[in-house]
Amino acid sequence: MKAFFDNRQRNHQPRHFMANGAIRPNPEQAGRIDRLHAGALEAGCDFEAPIDAGIGPIAAIHSPEYLRFLQTIHARWTQIEGSGDEVIPNIHPANRSDSYPKSAVGQAGYHQADTACPIASGTWEAAYWSAQSAISGADAILAGERSAYVLSRPPGHHAFGDLAGGFCFLNNSAIAAERLRANGLRAAILDVDVHHGNGTQGIFYNRADILTVSIHADPAGFYPFFWGHHHERGAGDGLGYNLNLPLQRGTADDDYLETLHVALNRIKAFGADVVVVALGLDAFIDDPFKGLAITTPGFARIGAAIAGLGLPCLFVQEGGYICDALGANLTSVLGGYRDASG
Ligand code: ZN
Repeated sequence: MKAFFDNRQRNHQPRHFMANGAIRPNPEQAGRIDRLHAGALEAGCDFEAPIDAGIGPIAAIHSPEYLRFLQTIHARWTQIEGSGDEVIPNIHPANRSDSYPKSAVGQAGYHQADTACPIASGTWEAAYWSAQSAISGADAILAGERSAYVLSRPPGHHAFGDLAGGFCFLNNSAIAAERLRANGLRAAILDVDVHHGNGTQGIFYNRADILTVSIHADPAGFYPFFWGHHHERGAGDGLGYNLNLPLQRGTADDDYLETLHVALNRIKAFGADVVVVALGLDAFIDDPFKGLAITTPGFARIGAAIAGLGLPCLFVQEGGYICDALGANLTSVLGGYRDASG
């Protein structure tokens, strides 16, 4: 399987975020890359660096205002007397329809949903190349590959069109799906990260041309809290084209697989001819986030079930945090997919 990654994706080195009022080390560390890279190699992936497709495919998803913010905010922020080295918001608008602020502090509050997406000097470059890896992955499918893996780090599925959040800046899965759609394929996004893919949902919420399906720990008591509930089905033209399948905390392999089949049947009914898998590995039983309880062999069953669609498949890395089995879980899902694809 072809795979894509660029070394500049290491240049985002977030230090902190806040959890329940405590300042903690940020878990979205560049060290994830080494484990995921090793796991992908073990599954037989053949890595190449992405080509630079430019800002166009990224601007097809994200607003110019937001892209300008991501590129310029760190330099502006560090000119504030006494500022920290990471852009972390300390005020948010009550409504995003309130006035667009001019100041760096105001814009940070407008474009960053939470404290988990600090922006430092290398953040834009890392996010840009993470997105370029996803674009090259989509282009590999368009060129006839049956499957490809993208080591997208930083991840993307919590990023909306103009809003960072949850370790995410550019929505790699959405950018890839839009690239596939724009080139004539009918694309569905299947998000198996333990967290709801709220940014992806938000981007396509009013659209019927890309189906979004997410299986995740119930947001009644889990990030991202405000999104991911079953009744969120899309709006306007997109009504019925967003499917959320929240699961109880601690759900394990067998029950998960049953829900996955509901998701896959929806993708079949949509008539998709390509699926973008937003591949979080944080549904793992020993992931630091402890949302669901998928085992390492369970990930192989997930990969095999996805192969059962018989569709070209682009795997885009989302979450999955440092734990002993992180690499093995990636090997398992990609290996399960490969073995069942025949
Ligand atoms: Zn996650």
